Amino acid sequence: MKRRDFIGVGAGALAATALSACGESPQSGTAAVMKPAETIHWKMVTTWPKNFPGLGTGANFLAKLITDMSGGRIKVKVYGAKELVPPFEIFDFVSNGGAQLGHGASYYWKGKSEAAQFFSAVPFGLTAQEMNAWLYHGGGMALWQEVYKPFGLVPMAAGNTGVQMGGWFNKEINSLADLKGLKMRIPGLGGEVLRRAGGTPVGLPGGELFTSLERGTIDATEWVGPYNDLAFGFYKAAKYYYSPGWHEPGTTLECFVNQKALEALPDDLQQIVKNAARVANQDMLAEYSARNNAALQTLLKEHNVQLRRFPKEVLSQLRQLSEQVVAEIADKDPLSKKVYEAYQNFRTQAVAWSDLSERAYLNARSES
Ligand code: CA
Repeated sequence: MKRRDFIGVGAGALAATALSACGESPQSGTAAVMKPAETIHWKMVTTWPKNFPGLGTGANFLAKLITDMSGGRIKVKVYGAKELVPPFEIFDFVSNGGAQLGHGASYYWKGKSEAAQFFSAVPFGLTAQEMNAWLYHGGGMALWQEVYKPFGLVPMAAGNTGVQMGGWFNKEINSLADLKGLKMRIPGLGGEVLRRAGGTPVGLPGGELFTSLERGTIDATEWVGPYNDLAFGFYKAAKYYYSPGWHEPGTTLECFVNQKALEALPDDLQQIVKNAARVANQDMLAEYSARNNAALQTLLKEHNVQLRRFPKEVLSQLRQLSEQVVAEIADKDPLSKKVYEAYQNFRTQAVAWSDLSERAYLNARSES
C-alpha cells in the first residue's frame, strides 16, 4: 500500500495495516493496539534547577512516567529553570501555550490569584497526608481547578516534600524579637508572617540562595529539608539549622497542564497524564521521607551542624500571626474567600482526627 492510500482512513484501519505489515493479523486477538499517526511532543518547564534533587528529579520522573505509561505516544522534554523561561514566568508561559506542562509550587502564583497559596503550603496548615486527603477526597482539587481555570490551566498535585525545616540562621532564635530586622528568604504566606514579626522576607529562586546567604545579601534562608539543604551546602554559610518548618508543613508541588493541550488528547492519554501525576505525587513524598533521614545524619556527623528547635513561645506567636495572615486572604476576592473557608473547615476536621491518630501515636512511640 502506498503512503497516499492512508489518507482518509481511520486510526483503526491504520493500526490494522501496521499490524498486517508486521505479519500479524489484527483479528487474532483483542489486544490490537491503535497507534497514532505521530508521536505527541510536549515540553515541561519548571521552576527548579535542572535535575535538582527531589524537585527537579521529581519533574523528570513525572515526564518519564507520562512517556512510559503512554508507550511513547507522548514524549515529554523537561526544561530546567532559565532554559526556556525564567523560573517565575512558567505560569504565563504554559498559560500562553509556549509549553504544555509546568512544574512548580502554587504559592509562587499569588500575584495571579491569592487563593493559589492554599494549594502549596499554609503556615500551621495541613500536613502532606492531610493535604492529599483534602485534594483527592475532600473537595480541594475541584477548587484548585477553579482557581487555575481563568488562566487556561489544569492543576494536578505532583509531589510533596513533607514537613520542611525551619531554616538556616547565623544566630539563635530565642524570642520573636530575634526575628526583627532579619532579612530571610521565605516564600508565600510564611514570608508575610515573618514581616508581621518584624523581619524582611525575600523571594528568591532556589538557585540563588547559597550565594545570597554566603555573601550576606540575606541573613537567613529556608529551603526544604536535609536532603535538599545538604545539596545546596547551606551548612557552609550558616551555623544553626532550625526545626520545624512551621511555614511549610507539607508542601504540595504541582504540575499544571495547558487546558487546550490536555483536552486535545484522547481520553486514555488524558487519564495517563492525570494518573502519572498521582504516582509522582506519592513517590516524591516517599523519596523525601527516606532521603531526609540519611541527609540529616550527614549534616550532623560530617558537617557539625547545630540543630535547634524554635522555642514553644516563638511558635505560639508565629501561629497567632499566621492565623491573621491566612484569614486576610479571604478578604481579597470571593474565590479566595471560598477556598479559605473550605480549607479551614477541612483543617478543623483534620486536626481533630490527627490528634487522635498521628499525634497520639507519635507521642506514644517517642515516650515508650
Ligand atoms: Ca521551603
